[in-house]
Amino acid sequence: MERTLILGAGFGGLTVATELRELLGPDPEHEIVLVDRRPDFLMGLRKLWALVGLGSLEEGSRARERLDRRGLRFVQEKVRTIEPGRRAAETDSGWIEADHLVVALGAEPRPDLVPGLAEHGHNVWEAAAVPALKQALDGLDEGTIAIVIAGVPYTCPPAPYECAMLLDDHLREQGRRDRIRLAVATVQPLLMPNAGADGSRWLGEQLDARQIEHRTGRKVERVEADRVVCPDGELPFDLLIGVPPHRPPAVVAESGLTGEGLWVMVDPGTLRTAYEGVYAIGDVTMIPLANGLPLPKAGVMAELEGRIVASAIAAELRGKKPPEPFDGQGFCFMEMGKATATLIEGDFFAAPEPRIRLGDVSGAYAREKHRFEADRLARWFGGPA
Ligand SMILES: Cc1cc2nc3c(=O)[nH]c(=O)nc-3n(C[C@H](O)[C@H](O)[C@H](O)COP(=O)(O)OP(=O)(O)OC[C@H]3O[C@@H](n4cnc5c(N)ncnc54)[C@H](O)[C@@H]3O)c2cc1C
Repeated sequence: MERTLILGAGFGGLTVATELRELLGPDPEHEIVLVDRRPDFLMGLRKLWALVGLGSLEEGSRARERLDRRGLRFVQEKVRTIEPGRRAAETDSGWIEADHLVVALGAEPRPDLVPGLAEHGHNVWEAAAVPALKQALDGLDEGTIAIVIAGVPYTCPPAPYECAMLLDDHLREQGRRDRIRLAVATVQPLLMPNAGADGSRWLGEQLDARQIEHRTGRKVERVEADRVVCPDGELPFDLLIGVPPHRPPAVVAESGLTGEGLWVMVDPGTLRTAYEGVYAIGDVTMIPLANGLPLPKAGVMAELEGRIVASAIAAELRGKKPPEPFDGQGFCFMEMGKATATLIEGDFFAAPEPRIRLGDVSGAYAREKHRFEADRLARWFGGPA
């Protein structure tokens, strides 16, 4: 029996598993095993929607045990050790060895890396933190909401700005906006470095039009109960949404897959690691671009990479030609309020820097973003919730 072992059943892992099963068909001689410590899948975008009353977290959650009905084997356990040289991983119930290993364990928000952030900031990057943030938001009648990108990298570069614009719309709907100041600050030199100076300027104008204050280059020294302390001053807040720096899970760092660096380095075209038969995709990897910035950590990227890896494994197993390499073309619908969005498309492997195209702001793109979630949930889990 052949086996593909996929560590992490998020955007990337689910894509590899689903596509590979489709390419191989219901072949009992090839087992596809997915390991994830959490029972349910939920997209990041749901966290922002739940915050502003666009549906609930539960509506976007799917039980991973449903994968068992789709020709896959789901193991709900924590990955404790990875031995890439053996293409093996250890969970609570022992070792699983494989012919192909795909590491798709994502990136973890690490508020502990910024003094005071975990104590005084809400972390909308974690689903478990959403109810407390929503309660604090509902209880705020006046004051300042600060959204602070406190470290890099973080997943989904546009999401803090989407959060600000969704909150702007939400507070206007509720008649509280004139009493609540909204301010976004980032440690980065541009609002969205990957969108370049023009894209960041455009985003700044969009924020200005909504009276959302914004500042770049604000390093966070520490967070206190009512203020963010920066080398060049303070940002007072009544409610803080902190975007923490992200790091790979400890098990990845301990596996040797990251070499001397923080992230797993891969061949950008094939997503192969330095180990035979071992691939890594999505947020756990670092793919440097021509301008020195990393490829953005986004679900669409993990998905596109996952498709390449599934095709490569299927081609190898069936003795066929390998797929065309990953070309770095990606997209994302950026929400500009509750009912509008724009489309950001990018050729991220372009030199000397990524070529980014921004679409109009329209209701049609907002509806596409909702379809984006629905289509993937249906493809990966089948049927309704
Ligand atoms: C607020 C927010 C909004 C976002 N909006 C968008 C968007 O609109 N479009 C978009 O493309 N992206 C968006 N993203 C980013 C997107 O969620 C991530 O980039 C994407 O999930 C990365 O996929 P991945 O497969 O690499 O990792 P993940 O999807 O994070 O999957 C990793 C999995 O590994 C599991 N895991 C980790 N460690 C272990 C362990 N030791 N043992 C077992 N299991 C483990 C985790 O439980 C997790 O399920 C958003 C993110 C956030 C937070």
